[in-house]
Amino acid sequence: MKAEEIKRNIREILNELPPGVRLVAAAKSRRPEEVLAAIEAGVDTIGENYVQEAVAAYGLVGKRARWHFIGHLQKNKVKKAVTIFDMIETVDSPELAEEIDKCSAATDKVMPVLIEVNSGREAQKSGVLPEDAEALIREIARLKNLSVQGLMTIGPYSADPEDARPCFVETHRLFERMKELCLLSVEMRYLSMGMSDSYRVAIEEGANIVRLGSRIFGPR
Ligand SMILES: *Cc1c(COP(=O)(O)O)cnc(C)c1O
Repeated sequence: MKAEEIKRNIREILNELPPGVRLVAAAKSRRPEEVLAAIEAGVDTIGENYVQEAVAAYGLVGKRARWHFIGHLQKNKVKKAVTIFDMIETVDSPELAEEIDKCSAATDKVMPVLIEVNSGREAQKSGVLPEDAEALIREIARLKNLSVQGLMTIGPYSADPEDARPCFVETHRLFERMKELCLLSVEMRYLSMGMSDSYRVAIEEGANIVRLGSRIFGPR
């Protein structure tokens, strides 16, 4: 998509989002130049699904953006990921958390992470089931070079965004419950929910991070 169109889309979205809701530009399959256009239009956070794509965009954009990892992170990509990303939104197992902790320690970083919740209970999707989130958070809270800062969910894909609402409601409830536990070294600040078709519903249900791709960059 042309830089002008990307910029117009971003102006519209930033005008629409309520204060306190952060826009993450989901950049999968976009060219580094498109990512740069988004930054120049006022987006401050880029979401990447693939470490390889992030390396290319990061080469052009660098520290002008904050970088969130929003895809499925393979253990062998963690070492590279911790050098680029400011947050990993998709932690769903103790093994992945331990690898992030280990690689972050090696570079003297504390990596902010969100716990990915499989709120739609879909067998093919990643994420921890809502009922297993507390145990995972308790288990990884002890890791010194990783900091749990909230929850992320994708929810079921459907033509009707209302179909995602119950999943957003459940994830928000879980978020509030985890916050009330006041677990040591866990800080429940961020609730990342909603994509181009569902962000309005997600914001109504308490999201303070939305991840938009096609609404910004056009259809993939
Ligand atoms: C692709 C993607 C998005 C953005 O999806 P759009 O429908 O293009 O807005 C958001 N979150 C995740 C995890 C994604 O993979």
